Amino acid sequence: MPAKTHVVVIGAGAFGGWTALYLLRRNLRVTLVDSWGPGNSRASSGGETRVIRGTYGSDQPYTKMAARAIQLWKENQQSWKMKLMHQTGVLWMVTAGDDHFERNSMPALREAAIPYQELSAKDMASRWPQINLEGVHWGIYEPEGGFLMARVACQAVLDGFLAEGGDYKQTAVAMGDLDNGSWESLTFSDGSKLQADQYIFACGPWLGKMFPETIGNRVRSTRQEVFFFGTPAGDQRFSETNLPVWADHRDRFMYGIPGNQGRGFKIADDTRGPEFDPTSGERTVSADGLKSVRDYIALRFPALKNAPLLESRVCQYENSPDNNFIIDRHPKHQNVWLLGGGSGHGFKHGPALGDLVAGLVVENKSPDATFRLDRLGK
Ligand SMILES: Cc1cc2nc3c(=O)[nH]c(=O)nc-3n(C[C@H](O)[C@H](O)[C@H](O)COP(=O)(O)OP(=O)(O)OC[C@H]3O[C@@H](n4cnc5c(N)ncnc54)[C@H](O)[C@@H]3O)c2cc1C
Repeated sequence: MPAKTHVVVIGAGAFGGWTALYLLRRNLRVTLVDSWGPGNSRASSGGETRVIRGTYGSDQPYTKMAARAIQLWKENQQSWKMKLMHQTGVLWMVTAGDDHFERNSMPALREAAIPYQELSAKDMASRWPQINLEGVHWGIYEPEGGFLMARVACQAVLDGFLAEGGDYKQTAVAMGDLDNGSWESLTFSDGSKLQADQYIFACGPWLGKMFPETIGNRVRSTRQEVFFFGTPAGDQRFSETNLPVWADHRDRFMYGIPGNQGRGFKIADDTRGPEFDPTSGERTVSADGLKSVRDYIALRFPALKNAPLLESRVCQYENSPDNNFIIDRHPKHQNVWLLGGGSGHGFKHGPALGDLVAGLVVENKSPDATFRLDRLGK
C-alpha cells in the first residue's frame, strides 16, 4: 500500500478547520496546526455567532456556496448531535434608494433553491412590530437563514476532526521567508520541524504578513466592533424565537443577531474600520462606535433605546481587494496552498469551502478564476 498523502493545514479557523476535516474525509493523512486554538479571541472566527444567508447580489458564487453550506452545516451538526446552525430566518431590510443589490439577489436565490419571501414594509410591520420600519421600503426574508455558533463550531470541527483520525498541534509556524522557502518541511516557533507532501495556509488576517510577496496587503485586516445590549427582563420580543437575524442596508450596513447564548442583542456596523494588527491590537471598543450603534438602536428598535451595554468585542475582517476569497496554490510552490480573504463574509461558507478545497487538492485541479491570486495583480 502506498503511504497516504500527508497534508498540513495551518490555521484552525473556519477556513482551515473545515478544510482539514474534508481532506481527512477524502482519506488523506492530515495534521492541523494553530497558534492559539480554534476560534480563539484573536482569530476572525472567534466570538459567539455569525450570520448565514444567501442574499448576495448578482454574478457571484456565494449564493450557491451558501446553499451547499446550509446542507453541510445540517449534516455535520446532526452527526455530532450539536446545534451549531440556528435557522431563525434572516430579514434583509431595504432602505437605500438603490435596491439593485436586493433585486439582483432574488434570481440567484431561486437558482440556488434557497427559499425566500419578498415582503412589503406593511408585511414586515405586522410580523415584527418591535422593529420601527421608518424609511424601509421592502425586504427579503430567508426563512432557512439564521445564525451559526462561531468559536463553538470551530471547536466542534476540531473535535470531529480528531474523532475521525486527524492530528492536531497547538503551536505556531515560525515566520521566515515562506514565499521563497524550499518547502521540504515546516518549521515551528520552537524550532521543531514537520515534513508533509502539501501545506495549506489558512491563516486569516495573518496571511499577508506570512507571505509578504504573494499576499502582502492583498489581505488587509480592519478593526470591527461588535456590541451586545441587554433586553428588558422577561421581554421575549428580541429573543431568537421572536426576531430573525436582520440586516439593514442603508448608507451604512448594520446587522444584528438575537440570542447569542444569553449575551444579549448583538449589533454591528459592517463598514470597514481602520487597519488592525490581529496579534498585538487592543480589543476595546470606541466611544464613537458605541454612540453610533446606540443612535441606530434608538431609531430601529425603540424599546431598546436605553438598553445597557452588556458586552463588546473587537474582531477583524481580513479583506481581499474585491471581497472575494483567495483559494490558490502559491505561484512558486505547487505544494503550498493559500486560503483566505474571507472579507467579513467567510464563516458561513466554512464547510462548503473546505469540501471544495479538499476536492481541488485531491484531484489536483485549479480553482475558479474568481478565487485565483492572478486576478489581484501585483
Ligand atoms: C465581527 C465579525 C463579524 C463577521 N460576521 C460574519 C457573518 O455574519 N457571516 C459570515 O459568514 N462571516 C462573518 N465574518 C467573517 C468570518 O468570520 C471570517 O471571514 C472567517 O471566520 C475567517 O476564517 P479564517 O479561517 O480565514 O481565519 P481565522 O479564523 O482568523 O483563522 C486563522 C487561524 O490561523 C491561526 N494562525 C495564524 N498564524 C499562525 C501561525 N503562524 N501558526 C499557526 N497558526 C496560525 C490563528 O490562530 C487562527 O486561528 C465576520 C467576521 C468578523 C470579525
